[in-house]
Amino acid sequence: APALAPNFLRNIIEADLAAGAHVRPGLPQVITRFPPEPNGYLHVGHAKSICVNFGLARDYAGQCNLRFDDTNPAKEEQEYVDTIMDSVKWLGFDWEPKHADGQSHLHYASDYFDQLYAMAEYLITAGFAYVDSQSAEDMAANRGNFGQAGKNSPFRDRPRDESLALFRAMKAGEYKDGEHILRAKMSEDAMRSPNMNLRDPAIYRIRHAHHHRTGDAWCIYPMYDYTHPISDALENITHSICTLEFQDHRPFYDWLLETLSAGGFFQQPVPRQFEFSRLNLTYIVTSKRKLRQLVEEHIVDGWDDPRMPTLVGMRRRGYTPEAIQLMCERTGVTKSDGWIDYSVLEGCLREDLDPKAPRTVAVLRPLKLIIDNFPENDSVECTAPVHPHFPERGLRTFPISRELWIEEDDFMEVPNKGYFRLYPPIADKPGSRVRLRYGYVIECTGFDKDENGKVIAVHCNYFEDSKSGTEGSSTYKVKGNMHWVSAPTAIPAEVRLYDRLFTDPQPDAGGKDFKLALNPLAKEVVQAWLEPGAELAQPEQRFQFERHGYFAADRVDSQPGKPVFNRIVTLKDSWQP
Ligand code: ATP
Ligand code: MG
Ligand code: MG
Repeated sequence: APALAPNFLRNIIEADLAAGAHVRPGLPQVITRFPPEPNGYLHVGHAKSICVNFGLARDYAGQCNLRFDDTNPAKEEQEYVDTIMDSVKWLGFDWEPKHADGQSHLHYASDYFDQLYAMAEYLITAGFAYVDSQSAEDMAANRGNFGQAGKNSPFRDRPRDESLALFRAMKAGEYKDGEHILRAKMSEDAMRSPNMNLRDPAIYRIRHAHHHRTGDAWCIYPMYDYTHPISDALENITHSICTLEFQDHRPFYDWLLETLSAGGFFQQPVPRQFEFSRLNLTYIVTSKRKLRQLVEEHIVDGWDDPRMPTLVGMRRRGYTPEAIQLMCERTGVTKSDGWIDYSVLEGCLREDLDPKAPRTVAVLRPLKLIIDNFPENDSVECTAPVHPHFPERGLRTFPISRELWIEEDDFMEVPNKGYFRLYPPIADKPGSRVRLRYGYVIECTGFDKDENGKVIAVHCNYFEDSKSGTEGSSTYKVKGNMHWVSAPTAIPAEVRLYDRLFTDPQPDAGGKDFKLALNPLAKEVVQAWLEPGAELAQPEQRFQFERHGYFAADRVDSQPGKPVFNRIVTLKDSWQP
């Protein structure tokens, strides 16, 4: 196996392995989990977490669980469970059993509702939790603020029996949402803790809501901070890896598992939490709320719009799982917050796609080129490598004929200085000579305009002895080299030229209105002409369109005979807002 680049998580795991910290019968020594809440689509930030958690399990012969953190019935749906499973698999990871126990590594926090409830009753009877009956306003006021001590709830010292009876009545549906809440009591002075998360955190609340898996069985639901450590412990997680904003939650995590261990619910060693800095990628937003806004306000065409930083969007755009994995590995795992430039991801895409993608020709903004001295109704076969660095992948063939399509900007009526492509004769100077890639050298002789003055065709003559690959070709020295497709056999296609969704590298930083930074050029649709054969592209098949970049057949709209392509990324990093 290749040497792994060290990072602090790998160091911790390697030290734990060396110390035998998690040697337990029948269990791997590294068990991680990816714990999404099924309330939206996964985005590239989640990809980082997936790559870290599943990647560590893979690298250390461990196991990674996929756990749906589904404790908030109001926002969660089966649709999201399905898309999350799809995206994890698409990224290249699997929670299916790889170990002898034969157990599935797919879990739902809602499967633990009975156990979570039993542990809550234990905490009440052991004096570690109480039912608080303050109004929401009083509770918020008494909680205090950062730098200002909170006040104990008047219900904090109510008898344990009373709390237990109330908690059971809450469960039985005898109260309305918000009437009571179950809170932890970590220590006598918890309400004065500088860490707000430790001021008697809520652990159960009343919610009369239908749950996508448990239906109407429950009307009280456990809070995230309570559910998460217990789910980790029930699944024998060794390293519970999360992002830095959960650092302040760790003392409660540790306290809860210690307290429940002392109560006989868990054995040592219990899971430990480790935090790393989240992935912040420039030119996108990753807040679920903001992504939802883009979809609901029809700013994009759906969650899988190729401009979206969702995994379904990136997949549809043509991004490869390998490139996303490479970006996650390359950007490392640290504890310092920072921004990763979007060009890092684009660089990974080019690196992954360059050796893989077969080459083909596409003319995206077509202009007619007429070779006046080429025989009418005739054609000559040209050949080009499928991939210039891998001759073993063979050759492609396509005809050249009298009428071709070239790119509009490969012709200039009046050339700029340093312009080496097509321009017409000016005064006593002949028109430019260029090579039609894989074809002939031509010399520009003139052009036609329509009544509005728009150039509609360019004329040239070709040199019959200049064909690429023949002996005569080397006697022609030209500076320009252009791609083209033969008009009679070209394949028409819709090509969607995608670009970055925002023009601001940090569209939502500091409370900015991210919608003001939308890039109006993030999607442009052109009617292109493609090299024959492109009509056979399978959905999601990727190509390099020579001189243009990498493109993928759209997995939804592309059909055999009627291709639709998405631009994945340009060939070079030339991005400018
Ligand atoms: P939101 O707060 O917008 O609802 P979330 O990020 O909390 O979204 P979850 O479904 O809870 O969504 O996330 C699952 C896991 O993915 C969590 O462990 C979370 O820390 C991790 N994660 C989310 N965004 C990033 C990111 N940008 N970088 C690294 N990990 C992330
Ligand atoms: Mg979350
Ligand atoms: Mg969150």
